[in-house]
Amino acid sequence: MPKKILVAVALPYVNGEPHLGHIAGMNVPADIFARYHRLRGNQVVMVSGSDMHGTPTALKAMDEGVEPIEIATKYHEIWKNSLEKMGFSYDLYTHTHTATHKKTVHDIFLKLKQQDFLSEKTQKMPFSTTEKMFLSDRFVEGECPFCSYKNARGDQCDDCGRTLDPTDLINIKSKRDGSTPKFKDTTHQFLNLSKFQDALEEWISDKNDWRPNVKNQSMGMIKEGLIDRAITRDIEWGISVPIKEGYENKRIYVWFEAVIGYLSATIEWAEISGTPDLWKDFWLDEDAESYYFQGKDNVPFHTIIWPAILLGYGNLNLPTDVVANEYLNLGGIDFSKSKGHAVWLSDYLSRYDPEPLRYYLASIMPETSDSEFTWAGYVSANNNELVATLGNFVHRVLTMTNKNFEILSKPSRFGKTDLQALSDCDKALEDVSQSIQDRKFRSALQSAMKLAQSGNKYIDQKKPWFELKSDKTKAATTLWVGINIIATLRTVFYPFLPSTSKLIHEMLGFKENTLHDGWERKKILDDIKIESPSPLFKKLEDTVIEDENNRLMN
Ligand SMILES: [Zn+2]
Repeated sequence: MPKKILVAVALPYVNGEPHLGHIAGMNVPADIFARYHRLRGNQVVMVSGSDMHGTPTALKAMDEGVEPIEIATKYHEIWKNSLEKMGFSYDLYTHTHTATHKKTVHDIFLKLKQQDFLSEKTQKMPFSTTEKMFLSDRFVEGECPFCSYKNARGDQCDDCGRTLDPTDLINIKSKRDGSTPKFKDTTHQFLNLSKFQDALEEWISDKNDWRPNVKNQSMGMIKEGLIDRAITRDIEWGISVPIKEGYENKRIYVWFEAVIGYLSATIEWAEISGTPDLWKDFWLDEDAESYYFQGKDNVPFHTIIWPAILLGYGNLNLPTDVVANEYLNLGGIDFSKSKGHAVWLSDYLSRYDPEPLRYYLASIMPETSDSEFTWAGYVSANNNELVATLGNFVHRVLTMTNKNFEILSKPSRFGKTDLQALSDCDKALEDVSQSIQDRKFRSALQSAMKLAQSGNKYIDQKKPWFELKSDKTKAATTLWVGINIIATLRTVFYPFLPSTSKLIHEMLGFKENTLHDGWERKKILDDIKIESPSPLFKKLEDTVIEDENNRLMN
């Protein structure tokens, strides 16, 4: 029975371009996971979109003197484009400024209100006396009361990950002009998170396959006690509040609305596909699974707030797992666009190929601790692993076959080494599969590369170049086994390197679609004819390291 799997990828707020830190922890693992499950024959929908209503976008628009929609649309296009070029296989990458999203948000808001999970309360919010406006979340900055981080925002502390209220901040200042705001009463709708305390605790407590950081952080927050949080704001940019009076100048707060983007994107995808009810397969069917790929700063939104909204609405599936990664750092510092020190994705793609980056980022994925991107590491991964191990193995086997055999037929008997090499293929399929299912992507990639290494060893041991001179039948057996290993490499690398996998598929002369063979060792029974192969990867000069490091410093 094929499974139904929702792959939900973090919605980036669009006030700038994507950099490698963004995609390393979210898009790369999500795409590996989605491609693997499609190849297995499972029914997958992978969705995400730009979060258009984030306050960083509104802030940037005010700074530049333009409307927020201009900033949001400009960066949405850049994100969409770069993600496509990387080969991330979204079924839909949309944004949150659509009619479908607004309708979905209003529906959820009203249902929660009707079920008594929302209430109106008056709260004190920072009010700028210089600009005569309320300042919410990212419009203010101050010291975190929990960890003393100096630049905590009004909605969250980037250092300890806790969600905050502006009143929590010590030495609060306006990000706009540095002035100290006054606190003034304002009325808002609150989500009664406290009503979900027990249900969430019970739900999370038996999630034993979650990453320890994700589970511990979530349980910690629940144990501290969940407090009701405002879900509307005094701001002009965002989704209107579906309440008749008193909310004309308020909007739904982005953290409540953005997470609904996973659901509205699935609904939009189903509509576009011409099967408007298909989203229900992924959200209403109890056997469907859903995986949320996130950065660690987004954990509470996906393990507490979004599940509370889902529980309050009723009948919608809760996350199967929130696959959150730690941070990817650059030269030991935070890979964050706010600090202007980053490798920008569109810039990378203007000079290099997507596949070596997909490979390197998967190999250093910050799964359980922060990891570091270096250009030296990138060049080494490309030259020593992709070119020298995977590319070299494929190339030498295909070249020897092409030069010496018009047709290669299935051998009538195999030696012990040949059988061992074929069983290594089965082992690789099993190991890669298990690791991806367990959301252990680095280990999955290592198992895939191990097969290329053992393939090289097999060829070195059998020495088909000698066999060609002494006994051509023996050489034929070795190369036939080599081609079987290549066919398996095509399969196990498909989730990581889809274009490379497709190229191998074509060089082996397979006519069917790349998904045709599934996650199985292809039984090659027919005669094989190999055309002259083209190299899979390009070697990079060492000067790339210095050039790129200089570029970063300038
Ligand atoms: Zn903190």
